[in-house]
Amino acid sequence: MPSGGYLFVIRNSNFFRHWVFRHSSFLVGCQNGQKALDPLAIPTSFRYHVNMSTSSEIPTSERELIKPVQFLRGVGPQRAELLHRMGLRVARDVLFHFPRDYRDMSELRTVAELEENCPVSVCGHVEEIELRNRGTGRTVLGILVRQDQQYLRAIWFNQPHMRERFSRGQRILLSGKAHLNAGQWELAHPHVEVLAEHQEISTGRVLSVYPATEGLSQHHIRTIVEHVLGSCLEEVEEVFPPEYLLSHSIQPLREALPQIHFPTDRTSLKRARRRFVYQELFILQLALAMRRHRLTAHNRATELPVTAQIDARIRRLLPFELTASQTAAIQEVTSDMARPISMNRLLQGDVGSGKTVVAVYAMLVAVAHGQQAILMAPTDILARQHQLTLATLLQKSRVRIELLTGSRSKSERRDLVRRTAAGELDVVVGTQALLHAGIEFPNLGLVVIDEQHKFGVQQRAGLRRTGLAPHYLVMTATPIPRTISMTVFGDLDLTSLHDSPPGRQPVQTYWGRPEQRAQWWEFFRRKLREGRQGYVIVPRVETSESNAIKSANDAFEELANGELEAFRVNLVHGRLSSDGKSAAMADFRRGQTQVLVATSVVEVGVDVPNATVMTIEDGDRFGLAQLHQLRGRISRGTYPGYLCVFSTPGTDESRQRLEAFVRSNDGFELAEIDFQLRGPGDLFSTRQHGMPPLKIADLSQDRELLEEARRDAQQLVADDPELAATEHARLRRMALARYGQALELSDVG
Ligand code: ADP
Ligand code: MG
Repeated sequence: MPSGGYLFVIRNSNFFRHWVFRHSSFLVGCQNGQKALDPLAIPTSFRYHVNMSTSSEIPTSERELIKPVQFLRGVGPQRAELLHRMGLRVARDVLFHFPRDYRDMSELRTVAELEENCPVSVCGHVEEIELRNRGTGRTVLGILVRQDQQYLRAIWFNQPHMRERFSRGQRILLSGKAHLNAGQWELAHPHVEVLAEHQEISTGRVLSVYPATEGLSQHHIRTIVEHVLGSCLEEVEEVFPPEYLLSHSIQPLREALPQIHFPTDRTSLKRARRRFVYQELFILQLALAMRRHRLTAHNRATELPVTAQIDARIRRLLPFELTASQTAAIQEVTSDMARPISMNRLLQGDVGSGKTVVAVYAMLVAVAHGQQAILMAPTDILARQHQLTLATLLQKSRVRIELLTGSRSKSERRDLVRRTAAGELDVVVGTQALLHAGIEFPNLGLVVIDEQHKFGVQQRAGLRRTGLAPHYLVMTATPIPRTISMTVFGDLDLTSLHDSPPGRQPVQTYWGRPEQRAQWWEFFRRKLREGRQGYVIVPRVETSESNAIKSANDAFEELANGELEAFRVNLVHGRLSSDGKSAAMADFRRGQTQVLVATSVVEVGVDVPNATVMTIEDGDRFGLAQLHQLRGRISRGTYPGYLCVFSTPGTDESRQRLEAFVRSNDGFELAEIDFQLRGPGDLFSTRQHGMPPLKIADLSQDRELLEEARRDAQQLVADDPELAATEHARLRRMALARYGQALELSDVG
C-alpha cells in the first residue's frame, strides 16, 4: 500500500466523509505529520472513535447468530437435519435464507367471490382425492376442496407424485387462477400450502414462500425464521455506514431483514429487496473492480505501439478497406496494446461483422515488434479456417504461422514446440490444446481468443496461470446483454462492431410449415443449380429411441436419396474424427460438396461465402443465440441468403423464440430478447462462468440497480484499490469470502 493513499481514501470516500468531519483534528494532524499517513499509525483516539461510532450498532457478541440450528426454538434433531440439508447450519444462515416468492394474501376469497381467470387464494378442506390414468403415462389428479357448503376442484396433469401431498380432511390454501368448468370452479396447477387446523391466515399481508424442502412445511420455516428474527436481529451488524445508507437510499439491514421475510405490503417488500439486491451486486462489483485493478496494476506487459509505418505495412496486406467499426475497434485495441499493462478486451460483433481482421491487425502489430501471437479457436474446424485465412493473407509477408490442434501427431507437436521456443514462429493458431501442449513462448505479446462467450473470468485465469502476461483480446459473435457483460465479463473492456462489411446481404428467414416442405426443397435445389451451396442443420447426430428428433445420419440418408439426390451431399458432425471433419469442411469450401448436412458444429465462425441457403430441422431444439449463429453461416458473401426453419415448438417460450428469430436479423436485439425470455440461461449464467450464483438479484430485472452498484463499487475501489482502509475491512472480507476463489483474489496481504 503506497503511503499517502490513506489520506486520499478519507478525502474521497463518501463512506467516511462524516467521520472525517467529526475528526477534523485528526486530519490536521495528518497534514502536518507525515507519519500519520501510514494507516497503522492512526492515532489511537481516532481508532477508538471509529469503533465508537459503529459500536453502538455492533454488539461484539454474536452469541445468538452463531447458535446451531438444532438449538433454535421449534427445531429438534429431525428438523435440524432438514435444515442442514438446505445448507442452514446456524441461526445466521436462517436469517439470510430468503423467501423465493411472495403471495398477496389480500386476494383471499370465498368460493362465492371467485372470478374467471383472476389470481386468488382459497382456503378449504380436502374432501376427495382422485388420481386418474389416461394411458401412455398421462394422469389427472383431482382434489375436491370444501369451503363451508361450497366446493371447488384443484387439478394437476401428469404430476401423479402430487397425490402424496394430500390426505382427506386436510386444511389447505390454494393459490392460482380460477376457471369455471361445467358449473364448478377449478384451479389448474395451483400453489398449495397445507395449513394447521387453527393456523391463522393473515390477510392484507404479503406471505413469503420459502424454497421448499420435503418434511418442512412453509409454516414451520416461517415459525423458525420468526423466532430467529426475534432473537438475533439485535446482533446483526450493518454492512454500510449510516451516511452511505442515507445517501444511497438503502434501508438499514435491521429494518430490511424483517421486511424481506414478513413484508407488511408490496412497497415495504420492494424497499427491503432493493437493499439486499444492491448489497449483493455491490459486493460482486467490488470483487470485480478489485480484480480489474490487480490485473492492471500487476500485469505488466510489453508496450506495442502502432507506428505509421507498421500501420501502412499491415493495411497493404488486407484485401479490402476496413469498415468504420473495424477502424474504431482497431483504434481501441491498439491503444490498449500501446500501454505497459496487459490489455483485457472483449470484442463483440454480430456474425459476419468482420472481427477476424481486427484480430489479425492486432497480431501483426505484435509481430512487427518481434513478439509472438496466439490465436485460439474453440474447435479444430475454426482453427484450421483461421490458419487458412492467415496463410492466404500473409502469403507475401515473412510472418511465420503454424497450426496446433489436438489432432497433430506427437512428432509434429514436438517440432512445433521446439520452433516456438526458439522464436522461429510468429503466430501459432490452435485450439485449447495450445494450453496443454507445454509450449513456451519466449516473447508472447498477444493472445486472441475467438468465439468465446464461454470464456469467462475463470478460463482467462487459467491462461494466466501459465505465467504469461501478454495482451488479451477475446472475441465473441454472441452479443452479450449489457447486464451480463457487467457481471461475468465485468473485468473486461468492451468493444462492439456495429456495422457489417459493405455489400452484405440480409438473410430472408422463414418459418416453414410441414406442408411447405416440397416447395422449400424446390427452392433450395434452384439455388444449388444457380451455383450456390447450402447447409441442412439438424440437432442431433443419432436418433435416440425415445424421441422423434431427426438425426444427422437419417437426414443425410434421406436427402441424399431423395430431395437432393441430384447433388453432391456430405455429412459433418462432432463425432467424426478431426481429420474427417476438416476434410469434409475443405471439400465444402472448395465447392466439391454442394450441400453439407451438419449438426451445430458449423455453428461458429465457419466462413464459406458461396453458401447461401440453409434448412434448420427441429428449430425449437436450438437456443436463439445458436439459431442466429447458424444463420450467420449464410450471410457471408454478396449473394442474399435464405433460411427456412422447420419446427413444431412444444412450449410458448420456444414459439416466441422462433418468432423473434424470424422477425429480427439483429444479434444484439435477439440477445436481449433471449435474455428476457430465459433469464441469463445456461450460456451466461454466472455459474457457467465459475462464479457463485446470485442469491437474490435477478439480472433481467435489476439492471438499474446493477449499474448503480457498479458505479459505486468502482468509485470505492478507485479510492482504495485493495479496500485496505479499516473502514472497508468488512466489505473486503465479504467480497473475498464470496468471490475470492472464483476471481482469484487470494489475499495478497
Ligand atoms: P466474424 O465477425 O463473424 O468472425 P469474419 O471476420 O469471419 O466475421 O468476416 C466475415 C467475412 O467478411 C469474411 O469473409 C471477411 O473476409 C469479410 N470481411 C471482413 N471485413 C471486411 C471488409 N471491411 N470489407 C469486405 N469484406 C470484409
Ligand atoms: Mg469469426
